[in-house]
Amino acid sequence: MRMRAVIATCGFAACVAAFAQGPAAVPPVPGTGIASALFGLREMDMHIHAGMEREIPLNEWIDASVKDGRRVIVLLDHLELYRKTPEEYQAWAKEKKFPAWYTGGSAGHKALMADFDAAIAGRKDVILFKGWEISEDELDTGLEEAPMRMAEVIGWHISPHNVGDPPDGTKLIKRIQQVKEAQKRFPVPMILYHPFTMRIENIQRKAAAKGRDLKTLTVDEYRFFQPGQQEQAASLLKGGSVYIEMASASAAYFNDPIVREAMIADIKPLAEMGVQFIVSTDKHHATKGEKSFQPEAYCAPCGITPENTNTIVRELLAQRARRALDRGAPDSAAKP
Ligand SMILES: [Zn+2]
Ligand SMILES: [Zn+2]
Repeated sequence: MRMRAVIATCGFAACVAAFAQGPAAVPPVPGTGIASALFGLREMDMHIHAGMEREIPLNEWIDASVKDGRRVIVLLDHLELYRKTPEEYQAWAKEKKFPAWYTGGSAGHKALMADFDAAIAGRKDVILFKGWEISEDELDTGLEEAPMRMAEVIGWHISPHNVGDPPDGTKLIKRIQQVKEAQKRFPVPMILYHPFTMRIENIQRKAAAKGRDLKTLTVDEYRFFQPGQQEQAASLLKGGSVYIEMASASAAYFNDPIVREAMIADIKPLAEMGVQFIVSTDKHHATKGEKSFQPEAYCAPCGITPENTNTIVRELLAQRARRALDRGAPDSAAKP
């Protein structure tokens, strides 16, 4: 009798304590107490295509982003584009109406990175980093080492796999594990690009192909994670240098209240468990009729804040400064 009373009291106390805490909050990130030392969401673009798909010279391309408020940018290109033969590349550039800026292969990697290095060294109005976007499939089939060694940051393209199963929690957890493994050989910050929006793209395309009214899709069908998977993903990411992208395509998807509800249910608990994110435009070659970048609208409801998106910027700055020191050039910390 006495024992049962004790148990009952403990249970009640725990219940009251949990109730008093209310819903989980996004945990504070250490070292973010000085607002002027943080970049705002719309000041960062950690994913912009600045290589073969550019229609205009690199500096003009960067100018357009700076004019819209960017102060930190990751310049990159799709690594697989550099695997075309010279003939394939010429035909592709002509068809897409891109100037033939680069060749394929290692000469192309070097020329692209040299252009990025020149922009990094030359521009004082924006902080630039250089990287690659690489297909997630290469985590299964093998990595191309030489170009990866040139990057300060590597982003993994999570595919919608429109002919197959949409990306989901199981796939993301597998990719996080593979990326952490790859990071042992390539020790730079890494990003998983657009996992959530690619699932939505796949589900909507499949539904449309079957003639289904997209308004009849449910939150459950959109949901990315199964029970327990968010905890697993967050625990794998905890304390590491792997970041999750909150893709700019979320802005349009948020217009649908069902998609919005599913995305918040998938992403907000990750933020509450301390996952660190990145924001970006994933701009390719749209130079006309561009909309201003407004990530707050879809980030805030998902718990994505300047605090949990600045971590990667700080890590990239520290990495660059440290490398400059290691080269014995402490005064050139701002250079790549
Ligand atoms: Zn991508
Ligand atoms: Zn991209």
